[in-house]
Amino acid sequence: EAKAAGGGALRLYKTDMDERAKSRLTHEHDLRRALEQDELVVYYQPRVDINSKAIVGAEALVRWNHPERGLVPPNEFIPLAEEIGLIGQLGEWVLMQACMQNRSWQNAGLPPLKVSVNLSPLQLDPDSTITEAVMQALQRTGLDAKWLELEITETSLMQNVESTLIKLGEIRDAGVSISIDDFGTGYSSLSYLRRLPVNGLKIDQSFIRDITASRDDEAIVAATIALAHTMNLTVVAEGVTTEEQIRFLHANDCDEVQGFLFGAALPPEELTLLLGQTPHGRRTAI
Ligand code: C2E
Ligand code: MG
Ligand code: MG
Ligand code: MG
Repeated sequence: EAKAAGGGALRLYKTDMDERAKSRLTHEHDLRRALEQDELVVYYQPRVDINSKAIVGAEALVRWNHPERGLVPPNEFIPLAEEIGLIGQLGEWVLMQACMQNRSWQNAGLPPLKVSVNLSPLQLDPDSTITEAVMQALQRTGLDAKWLELEITETSLMQNVESTLIKLGEIRDAGVSISIDDFGTGYSSLSYLRRLPVNGLKIDQSFIRDITASRDDEAIVAATIALAHTMNLTVVAEGVTTEEQIRFLHANDCDEVQGFLFGAALPPEELTLLLGQTPHGRRTAI
């Protein structure tokens, strides 16, 4: 009886594997099609200067406008894109879109923004073409390098250290900014960052969330901002949702903030409206 049950479990397990393999193949096929048929879209989340409250930047965040599943968030397909070797092409597409969009905002006479683009760690692999892709995106769109920023995670700085340093150095020499995303969730230290061609860091939203309730998080955030400033790094707080958090961040000299309090990631037309709302280029997000 035990044997029979075991066999049944095994069959069940196998069926489950088959299903998963099939669904993975479907998703893989779907994602390749998405890239070819323009089903991916880039949304933009405003980044705000903590003193002036003006929108000074926007983060490009990709979504998949799936014909059946609707708007699919990046966490549900970026890992797959990385797995099937599609992330380079996908990432370069986002980069080009972001530069084009930023250039068109500038052409429309809106005050200039720094648009940031997320890079997968794989895009800094020794054989990746990221440097060329960045140069090409700037050249083709005519965007000045100082209005582009790349966001990389601490993880990507720990892999292929040599080639990563060379690539980031080239990109930075071209005038593009580089910031460390989700800072605090990885293992890099600020002293390590000192050796890198980095302009700023974004404190991960997990530290900001409880900032006004947790003494530990308060201490971590305050110390991170202070240390970052001694190294001339700009500090952005991610995931800001309350006025109370703003007050704390302001008191601790944080430079910029991003979060639902100022707006979620928006389709480009909606950010255009937000940018154009106030006259004389003085843009207020709230
Ligand atoms: P991230 O780069 O850390 O982006 C911030 C994420 O936090 C975004 O989620 C954003 O919508 C969300 N967020 C912003 N403000 C708030 C807030 O106040 N509260 C909360 N709870 N969340 C907030 P999203 O767009 O779903 O992106 C998730 C992650 O997917 C990104 O995290 C980034 O790691 C990755 N990603 C997005 N676009 C790209 C891309 O083009 N290439 C690559 N390689 N990764 C991307
Ligand atoms: Mg990011
Ligand atoms: Mg982040
Ligand atoms: Mg994140």
